[in-house]
Amino acid sequence: MQKERILIIEDEPNILELVAYNLEKEGWIVSKAMTGEEGWRKVQEEHPDLVLLDLMLPGVDGMEICRNIRQNPVTRDIPIIILTAKAEEADRVLGLESGADDYVTKPFSPRELIARIRAILRRVDKNFSKAEERETLVLGPIKMDLRRHKVFVKEEEISLTPKEFDLLHLLLSHPGRAFSREYLLENLWGYEFFGDTRTVDVHVRRLRQKIEEDPAEPYWLETVRGVGYRMREA
Ligand code: CA
Repeated sequence: MQKERILIIEDEPNILELVAYNLEKEGWIVSKAMTGEEGWRKVQEEHPDLVLLDLMLPGVDGMEICRNIRQNPVTRDIPIIILTAKAEEADRVLGLESGADDYVTKPFSPRELIARIRAILRRVDKNFSKAEERETLVLGPIKMDLRRHKVFVKEEEISLTPKEFDLLHLLLSHPGRAFSREYLLENLWGYEFFGDTRTVDVHVRRLRQKIEEDPAEPYWLETVRGVGYRMREA
């Protein structure tokens, strides 16, 4: 399993070393910064899995780093835990829309801090796999990567026209559901083609040639007699 990387931005050397020691003991890879400038630079360079951020820092303070992280599209999703001596201060930061995920008030026990970190990393992990799922449709040997707009059959990339892509997308999003030719025509082509359902048949035939092992005996993209088409349920 890959080890998560945690960046600690904290100007008090004792706290910095204590926290670093405890996190390394848990198996995380720790990176350290003692000023706001150094911290922000390391956030961008290292893209850590989580940032522990002291609010009161010389120069660029924690609030500003928080905002920077949230405003930059590359670093926006990095979870932040605030370390602070003042709970009211942390409340204020968390209350901001561009703020942190959680906070720990000083003095804190390493065990408490570790529990907070674990909770956040678990949550991020779950969100990430859910997002991945939504971006990929898989049925048998067919795989649609919606984010990259690519389609694979048995791991081989195939090339589809935009209409073929939309047709496959609709059918794959509802395996087992039968769509009438009229419905497909209306929803994928718009009303101007209404009535000419052969357009759908032509596209289905072309799509079958690309996704079926034997297009003459289609297995995945089924014809529903008297209705239209449906994708087989795996
Ligand atoms: Ca400080």
